Amino acid sequence: MIRKIDNLGRVVIPKEIRKQHSMREGDTVKFFNVSNGVFVTKFESLFCPICESLVRSTDKYCSECGTKLTSEQDENGEEEKWVK
Ligand SMILES: [Zn+2]
Repeated sequence: MIRKIDNLGRVVIPKEIRKQHSMREGDTVKFFNVSNGVFVTKFESLFCPICESLVRSTDKYCSECGTKLTSEQDENGEEEKWVK
């Protein structure tokens, strides 16, 4: 699949790819430099409920405000919610 980069550097991730990797609006992706280009992967991240900093789902504490973070997955494993 070929896509053009627009004047702001944006590129649309093809719908088929988004569907296959469960990428939705508001999700974050991470870019990696690889020898022959760029590798993009869905970045499993969440926002701190207190200061709204971006935190990794594996973090136990928010790096900004130090809030203890506990995540819980629902039955289908798709959505993560914060539990105090
Ligand atoms: Zn925080």
